[in-house]
Amino acid sequence: MKELILVTGGTGYIGSHTVVELIKEGFDVVIIDNLSNSTTESLDGIEQITGIRPDFEQFDLLDLQRLEQFFASRPSLKAIIHFAASKAVGESVEKPLLYYRNNLNSLINLLHCMVVHEVSPIVFSSSCTIYGQPRELPVTEQAPILPAESPYGNTKQICEEILADSISAFNVLKAISLRYFNPIGAHPSALIGELPRGVPNNLVPYVTQTAAGVLPELKIYGNDYDTPDGSAIRDYINVVDLARAHVTAIRRLIAGKNSEPLEYFNLGTGKGTSVLELVQTFEQVTGVKVNHRIVGRRAGDIEKVWADTTKANETLGWKAIHSLDETLLSAWNWEKRLRDIK
Ligand code: UDP
Repeated sequence: MKELILVTGGTGYIGSHTVVELIKEGFDVVIIDNLSNSTTESLDGIEQITGIRPDFEQFDLLDLQRLEQFFASRPSLKAIIHFAASKAVGESVEKPLLYYRNNLNSLINLLHCMVVHEVSPIVFSSSCTIYGQPRELPVTEQAPILPAESPYGNTKQICEEILADSISAFNVLKAISLRYFNPIGAHPSALIGELPRGVPNNLVPYVTQTAAGVLPELKIYGNDYDTPDGSAIRDYINVVDLARAHVTAIRRLIAGKNSEPLEYFNLGTGKGTSVLELVQTFEQVTGVKVNHRIVGRRAGDIEKVWADTTKANETLGWKAIHSLDETLLSAWNWEKRLRDIK
């Protein structure tokens, strides 16, 4: 019997890549997604890649009654990976109540159902934004959590606290919180990838859309940071590598190999890349020029951050394997497919 995993937000960017890896590793998957920021086309992509169309239920996790029905109808549910959340930093400043309502209540409702139906464990999508600008680099899981810069970042911090308090109170619960650095790229098949709505905020979709001629120019936010070339540094992690980490985390929890009921892992490459380096690498591997201009710093941006991956490598047994070159190429291949560029 295959083990059944619930993936919330499973039609989204990281969710869909994780569903592919779960299916490849022999799990059964059921997705809950309200399609607020994704479409069922990713189900077609998953099916084309794996030969299996995952079970899909469209509803909002804020609908507790519906979620209760779902748990009652799936007694064999083995574990949960929770991606469903609102994720745009800028939007969260404009609509804080939406972000707190969506991101906190969806986790609260899930944990409630997990306790009532005695279903555990859960893997939670967290973020390196909780570290702010760390004083020491690379940043380890022990680094202090700094006051959040945005309501979005705050929801990730509060969700980690909700997890910790719930796990202390209810013996049945176990969890791993995965703190992502900057996820980029797409599946090598170019059948699934990131679908930003409107003008993208994140660097790589902005780069690929500029290269495709959809956007006129990339603005590089700042060249006066205290970094070798003056542009800001991040740890860009391949989305398929990230997806694999979720399967590893689920296996660890199901096998009871976790050393504590709530564990935290940084998911990055351990290597920092500047904005200018990323653009140059993109131009080199694709042969396509990216029209760009240096402008002032973006409000709320930190200068530099990259992960200490020792704990993820040694304790979780996971390591990023894809290079920046192949990851940027995968992002470009996905953009070309979306735009029908040969
Ligand atoms: N960035 C940029 N131009 C853009 C978008 C992003 O120069 O159009 C920079 C941004 O200032 C940051 C890095 O690219 O230094 C990564 O930004 P992104 O929004 O992708 O992720 P963040 O680290 O802010 O979550």
